[in-house]
Amino acid sequence: MSLTSEPVNGLTTSTAFSEMKTVRSIGELHAVLKELNDNNVRIGFVPTMGALHSGHATLIRTSAAENTLTVVSIFVNPTQFNVQSDFDKYPRTLDEDLSIAELNGANIVLVPTADEMYPKDFRTFIEPGGTADPMEGQCRPGHFRGVATIVVKLLNIVSPDVAYFGKKDFQQLAVIKETVNQLNMKVEITGVDTVREKDGLALSSRNVRLSDGAREQAPVIYRALQRVRQRFLDGERNRSSLEDIAREELATSPLCQVEYATICDASTLQISEVVSDTSVLCIAAWFDDVRLIDNIELQAFTGER
Ligand code: AMP
Repeated sequence: MSLTSEPVNGLTTSTAFSEMKTVRSIGELHAVLKELNDNNVRIGFVPTMGALHSGHATLIRTSAAENTLTVVSIFVNPTQFNVQSDFDKYPRTLDEDLSIAELNGANIVLVPTADEMYPKDFRTFIEPGGTADPMEGQCRPGHFRGVATIVVKLLNIVSPDVAYFGKKDFQQLAVIKETVNQLNMKVEITGVDTVREKDGLALSSRNVRLSDGAREQAPVIYRALQRVRQRFLDGERNRSSLEDIAREELATSPLCQVEYATICDASTLQISEVVSDTSVLCIAAWFDDVRLIDNIELQAFTGER
């Protein structure tokens, strides 16, 4: 197995292997990585739960453009689901996922088994810091404990230079940054802008479960995010007033049941009465039995695709 490298913009990009490798155990992954035997390899890593869509594809393409080797993992992590039926209903489309990963530049896809990730009697969990407390932390107790645990395990297994996460899961990105920082891990964490449908709905593996009616109404979330951002840019700085605007917009959809519409600081995720340039509005809402989340940074130009 050889790694063909050519320097581009000071980075060595690669065609890595002639074809993508799918590995199903940690030992196999380590054997493949060892065979490369090249210290100049810069590894980019994209952890996913599969059911890949254009959002995941963008993460993979970003990694492929910035690194010599891109590793993608596909693992539906049982410890981050606080409701068993949500785990059971999670879409699983491995064959299609492997094609999408390959088409977008993945070199290795790790598909570990649950037994290997969580051997019997496993109990070494990561308890994340304060970023995990509000919003998702309140609505989905234990969710971020499962996320932080699996992400740290995967980062230890893959040992990437950089790992890519979507801003679509804004709080998750903040929790991972805080976890990696507090555990003194060397990996760089990069956030990638949210990829949306034409009507603004953020791509999500859960969207396929929306009924036709719910799918039609779900873009109300993006309209609410944009309306609040506009009011912020127009000068409004009162948190409750801005959150009320979000709720008012969401209420225009009869199917939408709001779980939260909260403005907080983009790094700490703590809530303060005064909204600032570093604030982010996060929304979680149900459409029938499908729960969607989305967010918008109020000041930053995100250049979202
Ligand atoms: P998941 O498979 O849902 O765990 O997501 C894997 C990664 O893809 C996470 O870092 C997500 O934040 C990211 N992701 C999911 N949806 C999108 C999207 N619409 N745009 C960009 N990234 C996304």
